[in-house]
Amino acid sequence: MNDIRIEPKLKEKLEAFGLADNNLCFNCGNCTAVCGLTERDLTFPRKGIRHLQLGMSEKVNQSVEPWLCYYCGDCSKTCPREANPAEQMMSLRRYLTSVYDWTGLSFKFYTSKLWELGALLFVGAIVLGLFGLYHATSAEPIIWDLRDGYVHLNSFAPVMYVHYADWVMAGILSFFLLSNLFNMYLTIMRSDKSLKIPLHLYFTKIFSIPLHFATQMRFKKCDNKIGFWFMHLFLMSGYGFMFILVLVLLPWFQIDQGINWTTYPGYYATFALLYGSIYCIIGRLRKKDEVHRYTHPSDWIFLIMLFLTTLTGIMVHVFRYYLLMPAATYYTYAIHLAIAVPMLVVEVPFSKWAHLAFRPFAMYFADIKKAALAIKK
Ligand code: SF4
Ligand code: SF4
Repeated sequence: MNDIRIEPKLKEKLEAFGLADNNLCFNCGNCTAVCGLTERDLTFPRKGIRHLQLGMSEKVNQSVEPWLCYYCGDCSKTCPREANPAEQMMSLRRYLTSVYDWTGLSFKFYTSKLWELGALLFVGAIVLGLFGLYHATSAEPIIWDLRDGYVHLNSFAPVMYVHYADWVMAGILSFFLLSNLFNMYLTIMRSDKSLKIPLHLYFTKIFSIPLHFATQMRFKKCDNKIGFWFMHLFLMSGYGFMFILVLVLLPWFQIDQGINWTTYPGYYATFALLYGSIYCIIGRLRKKDEVHRYTHPSDWIFLIMLFLTTLTGIMVHVFRYYLLMPAATYYTYAIHLAIAVPMLVVEVPFSKWAHLAFRPFAMYFADIKKAALAIKK
């Protein structure tokens, strides 16, 4: 029989990640019964809550179930003890993000507003410093007037420099995210030594990653949540389009004159991000839906950063193309990057946005384990 290690202070540890009163739960299992996503071999949320109560940290760390929950809130609505199981699952996801992160930064960002805000300010200052350094050393002058009748944004932020800087940033963030995903794989898939996983399953199940990433289709299984699913998908499509425009198509997207074929996806992505961020901010202020009832500080920071990034992006566009104001365009562009870059640096590998990668991978791992169990039986 395996030894089970108990961490008596596990619940206290989770409180910093947003866990409310975990003792309220009396293990009736109602939440698991109403959850539309729970399955025979992967039951939640009761099991995870029980492991937390007992301080079974290894079981908690190795669990894949928190990532299978889409936070529809049905379980919290029907919990007779008002133990808020949906938010407990959310706290577990925040905590697990820090478990997979070998740098320790995720733990710092989730548990300390000072650390998260300090990191955002620090990276923002680096971005502004790079602008200053470039113009202090470059022989190319900034064009402050409306020469030839348009704003010369590329004299302030040459597109190829921004493009290469984007690639460097994407490379660094991918390194952290992929190494954390590898840790997630080790933690989840190496947990059950008795379960032999045939190698071919890693290949035959791989399509579940892009499928769940792109469609979030399991969310539709939750009762009456088509609206939330659609909103999530809409927001995701905005991220996706903007990601491609900035990372792949920037030389066409950031042009000084006129519009081209990249402009319309840009408008779509901007609308999706603006609408999605305002929708979530209003929802969290009104607290009407279960999913918006509780907001961890990291949720607020993420939403505000996303909203400000989108807003400053729109302002750059308006100053540049409609109001023809060079100085306002340049300063707003610098501020836009000083918000967008720190948001990506902090959120993608270490905080809220990491779930976009962890959730589809969790489903992939869960599919593999289910198939391996079926073979074993
Ligand atoms: S969280 Fe609520 S519904 Fe779920 S097992 Fe505990 S008391 Fe029951
Ligand atoms: S929030 Fe929804 S998906 Fe998550 S455990 Fe509760 S009922 Fe299931």
